[in-house]
Amino acid sequence: MKIHEYQAKELLAAAGAAVPRGVIATNAREAQQAYEQFGKPVVLKAQIHAGGRGKGRFKDSGADFGGVKFCKTKEEVGTVAEVMFRYPLVTKQTGEAGQRVSKVLVQEAADIAREVYLGMVVDRNAGVPVLMACAEGGVEIEEVAARNPEKILKAKISPELGLVPFQARRLAFELEFPPEQVPAAEKLMTALCKVFIEKDCSLAEINPVAVTPAGEVLALDAKMNFDDNALFRHPEIEQLRDESEEDPMELRAARAGLSYISLSGTIGCLVNGAGLAMSTMDIIKYHGGEPANFLDVGGGATKEQVTEAFRILLADPRVKAVLVNIFGGIMKCDTIAAGIIAAYKEVGFHVPLVVRLEGTNVELGRKMLAESGLNIQTAAGLTEAAKAVVAAAAA
Ligand code: GDP
Ligand code: MG
Repeated sequence: MKIHEYQAKELLAAAGAAVPRGVIATNAREAQQAYEQFGKPVVLKAQIHAGGRGKGRFKDSGADFGGVKFCKTKEEVGTVAEVMFRYPLVTKQTGEAGQRVSKVLVQEAADIAREVYLGMVVDRNAGVPVLMACAEGGVEIEEVAARNPEKILKAKISPELGLVPFQARRLAFELEFPPEQVPAAEKLMTALCKVFIEKDCSLAEINPVAVTPAGEVLALDAKMNFDDNALFRHPEIEQLRDESEEDPMELRAARAGLSYISLSGTIGCLVNGAGLAMSTMDIIKYHGGEPANFLDVGGGATKEQVTEAFRILLADPRVKAVLVNIFGGIMKCDTIAAGIIAAYKEVGFHVPLVVRLEGTNVELGRKMLAESGLNIQTAAGLTEAAKAVVAAAAA
């Protein structure tokens, strides 16, 4: 699960990090009111669950700024905010359609002497979280990492002890903080590690850490992702979820207990088991088609879940044909057949359906489908099924 920058900063501040003052606005007037409250230049920051905002652009707006804009006057705050709320923001991470902005963070502008990068992820090889740091932070960090990977410093963090003081000091010196700034740098790193470990983050990043001319060390930006499987331990994090930022189909599937990921192709897939779902996608591609989604109904799905899975697939206007590929183990083929029949009665099928069933109760499942009188193309093997569905989607 992802959260917004302003929410991540609140978590960091609660753990002892220094963050600039900021207020959330939901329209241009509120943004101007926030500006007046500060009485000095502010930075307007579009809150979306995607990075690269600074270098982004507002689609079709003609504006020459991205999702992060320095503003000196109340008028400027008004015009910039109007654009931010009106046009979708396109960044490297949003795709061409962009993302609507419904919240803008109005933040007291900081003077920046230097930008540093801090980030934390779980290192699967090391089996522990790793704190990464780079003296050259800011919007070019990906380029630095690609061209000069040796400039990214790393420290393995014990999940039990957290960041221990000597590690923080060593990193602070390696990042060339002068001695008088080291305690502030240490404090920020400690706060980042504390939030990461306590809240079960999968990623936490402060880019940039801004060092002001006065020597303050501030979290100017923040990004956090959380391990979905640990969310049950953190109801306070779950509350930060912003459903308007999530794919509506994925959200609906998650509510029904289905693993669903939206893709860009035309062939809807309904499969049981993640491995079979992956190989189904592979074989569709092998035969020249493009999957519209990954959908694993799981081992023990009920007829209701299968029906909901069909509703989700069929609600996607890009889907031109559907492939059902089931290898019944715990999942029974007759349950799938019942789901198909129920979904047909409820929503009808406006696209061709290819079904390949094998395994537990396969005879019963096939019989139910044959007797239903539905216009279904059945296939005996995976290759035959893939060829049939690719042809149907292309027709
Ligand atoms: P991102 O592009 O989504 O990562 O958004 P950031 O919050 O990291 O902002 C991008 C860049 O805008 C930063 O690297 C800074 O150079 C600049 N920026 C952001 N806030 C301020 C600020 O308060 N003062 C100044 N001078 N620059 C800022
Ligand atoms: Mg940033």
